[in-house]
Order: sequence, then C-alpha cells, then structure tokens
Amino acid sequence: MDNRNTKEKLGIALVGLGSYSEGQLAPALQQTAHCYLAGIVTGSEEKAKRWQVQYNIAEANTYNYQNFEEIANNSDIDIIYIVLPNSMHAEYVIRAAATGKHVICEKPMALSVEDCNRMIDACNKAGVQLSIGYRLHFEPFNAEMMRIGKEQPFGPLKKIKSDHGMADTDGWRIEKALSGGGPLQDLGIYCIQACRYTTGMEPIAVTAQEGAKTKPEKFKDVEESMTWQMEFPDGITAECSTTYVKRMSYLRAEAERGFAELDPAFDYNGLQGKTSDGPLQFADINQQAAQMDDFALALKEGRPTPVPGEMGRQDVAIIQAIYKAMETGQRVELK
Ligand code: NAD
Repeated sequence: MDNRNTKEKLGIALVGLGSYSEGQLAPALQQTAHCYLAGIVTGSEEKAKRWQVQYNIAEANTYNYQNFEEIANNSDIDIIYIVLPNSMHAEYVIRAAATGKHVICEKPMALSVEDCNRMIDACNKAGVQLSIGYRLHFEPFNAEMMRIGKEQPFGPLKKIKSDHGMADTDGWRIEKALSGGGPLQDLGIYCIQACRYTTGMEPIAVTAQEGAKTKPEKFKDVEESMTWQMEFPDGITAECSTTYVKRMSYLRAEAERGFAELDPAFDYNGLQGKTSDGPLQFADINQQAAQMDDFALALKEGRPTPVPGEMGRQDVAIIQAIYKAMETGQRVELK
C-alpha cells in the first residue's frame, strides 16, 4: 500500500506550549520546508490567544487537553508533537496515535520500557509513525562523529567520553514523579545517545555512581549529578557524567590512531569540534527545523524515520540500567 502523504507542507500540532515549544520548536517551524505550525494544544487560554495571534493559528486548530481527541477530524493536522513533562509522554503519545495522526515525542520517550512498548504498540496499531525528538541526528558535527565511528579514519574506536550538565534547573525537572529522575533523564540521555551513535553499537553493561549533593534541600527527590561507565562490544568503553549544577556539553571519541572531539557538543547552536587532523568546520543549522523536516519528508516519501520509538525505548532501558547500577553499586548487564 502506498501511504505517502502528498501535501506540500504537513501540519504539525504542538502539545504543551512550554519553553521548548516557545523558544525552539515554534520558531523552527517558521523555517521548515516540509511542515508548518498548524495547531496547538494547551491548557492555558491566555497562551492559546497569544499563539493564535503570533502564529496565525485558527480557533478551529486550537485544542485543550480535554478536547484533544477531536484532532482526529482535522485535516490540517498530520503530525502531533508531544512536548510535555516526561511522565506525560506515554499517555499523550497513546492518545495522539488514536487520532490517526503521526507522532513525535520528546525525550526521554517515557519513564519505563513497559510504557515505551505501549506507545510503540499504539502507533503500530493505528498505522502511524512514531519519532523521538533526537535533533542531533540531523546536526552536522554530530553526524560527523557518526561518520568517524562508522568509517574509522583513525582506526577502531577505543574510548568515548561524554558529559552534559546545566548550571541550574527548577520545576517539574526535579520532581521525580514528573521527570523520572534528575539530570540523567534530561541531559545524560544525550551522552547515552552520543555513545550509541558514535560507536554504532549497543552497550553490554553499565556501572554508575551518584555524585555528592551540594544542594540537598533542592535535589531531595532526584540525583544532583552522577557519573557512569558503559561497556560496548570490542572492548570499547565510555565514561560519562551529568549534573544540574555545572554547564557541560562534551563528546570525545578516541581511536587507535587519533581522536575526534565536540565542545560544545549538544547545544542548539554554536557547536565546535576538532579531530587529530585539525578543526571541524560546519555551518550552524536550525536543528529542530532539520529534525521536523526530516520526519515530514519521511512521511511524504513513505520511508521510516531514522529516530523511531524503538531507539527511544533503548535509551530508556539504558537509563533504567544506569539507575539500577547507581542504587545497587553493581555492574548491570543489558540484554
Ligand atoms: P516546560 O516546563 O517549559 O514546559 C512544559 C509544558 O507542559 C508547559 O507548557 C506546561 O504548562 C505543560 N504542562 C501540562 N501539564 C503539566 C503538568 N502537570 N506539570 C507541568 N507542566 C505541565 O518544559 P520544556 O523544557 O518545554 O520540556 C518539555 C519536554 O521537552 C520535556 O520532555 C523535555 O525533556 C523536552 N525537551 C527537549 C529538548 C530537546 O532539545 N530535544 C529541549 C528542552 C526540552
């Protein structure tokens, strides 16, 4: 069956108009070639009015969390993008799939592998694609790390180092019920992803250590920082860290005859990199525009997204293994 979408630009509805939707996704959707901001889902009437004016969104394409399912009857909307706190991803992806629209879900995909399975099953059953908001797969510096890992210009990889931290955070991110955990869920996931896409391999086992808390009154519920190690096939090892009290954005791959390094590695723009041969030079791109355009193009061309739910589920499995290793002090093997 040919299920390609023949529209010139597919309509995206953003669900949850918080800082990522407002600061990154909506502006990116002004630059996209294959999709546009067609609708919004918000619990705030004030935000609904403001966005309708700012982005020329019709009242008929404006929804709240109660009438969300009516999107099923809206032919302007082809893709529903879930940009809510982590604990809400599973419920909203499943509700989105039931409308028959394709779905993008922000990272981390969910708080458990079981929820990821339910989300994947719901999308399969509805015959829609599920993509995870892994913007760095469409970013040239990180794509170069993937190429170096694959083509091995410096020989086989030996060691990866990756760190991602922010100097501060607040709100649902430090409430375990909503976030699933601390910086590992929010930022460390980028290091996990980077190790996976640089090596092109899956980790075999992990060990992990919680960092001492400098603000125990603030980080009551979740880790403030942590370090962890991952073993990959062929003896490749990864050393990673994440924190909510210091800015870090780093990825380095050491190979037999050289290295490649990005610093900053995971920011929205201004990435920089070098290898043992010299500096890496790529133009800044709008990562979110590239990510959403690729998904829209995948739907137009009838091909699978390169960042599917199964990829998100594997990161959730690795996160769970890292927490288990941190809590037990044991080496935890991954299937
Ligand atoms: P945010 O707190 O700024 O926005 C969350 C939105 O959800 C708000 O509009 C809020 O009103 C709404 N919401 C609905 N029910 C809520 C509830 N019960 N509690 C709290 N908020 C509720 O968060 P954000 O930074 O926009 O993050 C949203 C998602 O996007 C998260 O999953 C996050 O990991 C992800 N994210 C991804 C990137 C990326 O680079 N891919 C960057 C930032 C955030």
